[in-house]
Amino acid sequence: MAAPREWLGTVEAEGIAGRQGSSGVEVVFPSDPATPAPLCPHGPTLLFVKVNQGKEETRRFYACSACRDRKDCNFFQWEDEKLSGARLAAREAHNQKCQPPLSRTQCVERYVKFIELPLSQRKFCQGCQQLLLPDDWEKHQEHRVVGDISITQLKRPSQLLYPLENKKTNAQYLFADRSCQFLVDLLSTLGFTRVLCVGTPRLHELIRLKASGEKKSNIKSLLLDIDFRYSQFYMEDSFCHYNMFNHHFFDGKAALEVCRTFLQEDKGEGVIMVTDPPFGGLVEPLAVTFKKLIAMWKEGQSQDSSQKELPIFWIFPYFFEFRIRQFFPSFCMLDYQRFHRTFICVDEAMKYGCMLEVDYDNHALYKHGKTGRKQSPVRIFTNIPPNKIILPSEEGYRFCPLCQRYVSLENQHCEHCNSCTSKDGRKWNHCFLCKKCVKPSWIHCSICSHCALPDHSCGGPKDGCFICGELDHKRSTCPKITTSKKVNNTLFFRAVRKQKQRKSNKMKMGTTKGQSMNHTSVTRKKSRRERAHQYLCS
Ligand code: SAH
Ligand code: ZN
Ligand code: ZN
Ligand code: ZN
Ligand code: ZN
Repeated sequence: MAAPREWLGTVEAEGIAGRQGSSGVEVVFPSDPATPAPLCPHGPTLLFVKVNQGKEETRRFYACSACRDRKDCNFFQWEDEKLSGARLAAREAHNQKCQPPLSRTQCVERYVKFIELPLSQRKFCQGCQQLLLPDDWEKHQEHRVVGDISITQLKRPSQLLYPLENKKTNAQYLFADRSCQFLVDLLSTLGFTRVLCVGTPRLHELIRLKASGEKKSNIKSLLLDIDFRYSQFYMEDSFCHYNMFNHHFFDGKAALEVCRTFLQEDKGEGVIMVTDPPFGGLVEPLAVTFKKLIAMWKEGQSQDSSQKELPIFWIFPYFFEFRIRQFFPSFCMLDYQRFHRTFICVDEAMKYGCMLEVDYDNHALYKHGKTGRKQSPVRIFTNIPPNKIILPSEEGYRFCPLCQRYVSLENQHCEHCNSCTSKDGRKWNHCFLCKKCVKPSWIHCSICSHCALPDHSCGGPKDGCFICGELDHKRSTCPKITTSKKVNNTLFFRAVRKQKQRKSNKMKMGTTKGQSMNHTSVTRKKSRRERAHQYLCS
């Protein structure tokens, strides 16, 4: 997302109850845009408006749809600003310059050459994150180059590439193998034959591994992702360089057609879209994009199936339930909670000199976390009837016949709410005064006349969310703000990040990594006001 959002604290536009008093930047989708949005290197920009004390300021501006960090894309233009021909030309040149150095076709040609090389000549530059052909070796002499890249490694690019988790623009939280396996099995049980992977490189990888494995599955997969590094590993028909915040295909019409063909094959039968966007992503632009993909799929439908919906799995934290359902009322949130992403364990990396991925489940920090609970906030949102999605009983799920869905054992059916109400894997308790189920740690406070943590300060704003006033979350996890920094700012993520930061500052594992983290901590120290000022005056 664009810089000003990060700096000012974002609130999304449209239909948000109780946003009075909130300040930030909202994205707006004019129903009848007078002019098309100007382009940044990441495709069409989005229109934003600054909101002060719940009131929109009149002057709106365009900023990058994809980049949360100004360092990644500093596009800024007032909506009513007229640019000179020279500035437009300079911008056009800049946009060109920012495109990947190799075209999609060149990447494919290189890949074909690469796999034909004998093992001893297959090298990968870790510094440049690039597969090297013999002609490139000299240029990378001083870099960290690994050799003997096997076909197995080539089939698992997400293990070869560094996750970009320190770069705010595309924070990559890869699925742990077990979670990914669960997903693939689920997709196959549900009978899907094609999976459109939007921002799920590891899922894409596993589906393809299975399709080429011994017990061949027949599932095909197409990956759409903004991480251009993946274009080194896939042919044109299995990867498109794509921005999911503005539905932009970096390689133009040809890539769009790849996606269209994929969605419309077999009259659109057997296809599902699975997406795992960055948490910090604005929900509304994502919803707009997904609706465009749905429309593309619909075009290929025959008349009689006009009622059908494109099946979707949207993987996102549970506290976004309200927002997602605003845009997709037919979606329901599954109770599957052991949906973990791996993170790189720096301890292990130091010991073994390589990047090892660790399942949250098996990791000390995770296990002995503050509360000892399984803390993954990630859930699946879907329009597939939840009674069709069998969650494994050996992992502690049961079927609730009243709700017609599988829920975790702790999630008990509340006869007053007529629903299995827990959202976070703990047993929630019904409060008759609040007329709803609340977290087990809460008690009803007669002064505040609602439930809250026992040690809350009555009437104080500290307990509720600063942004929307709701009491079940803090500002850092408010579904109505959308900067990743805030959303990820739970104790858990903070602990992980701190640990990694400390270690990797010591280790100096890769210059880019270190730099981006230092940058983050420096900018975080600056006051918001200062940053906003700096931004608006530049
Ligand atoms: N759990 C997934 C990865 C999710 S991380 C898996 O294991 O497969 C989020 C993914 O979204 C990353 O791959 C990242 O590169 C991609 N991404 C981030 N911003 C994007 C954007 N604007 N458009 C498309 N993809 C994006
Ligand atoms: Zn941009
Ligand atoms: Zn129930
Ligand atoms: Zn209840
Ligand atoms: Zn109180």
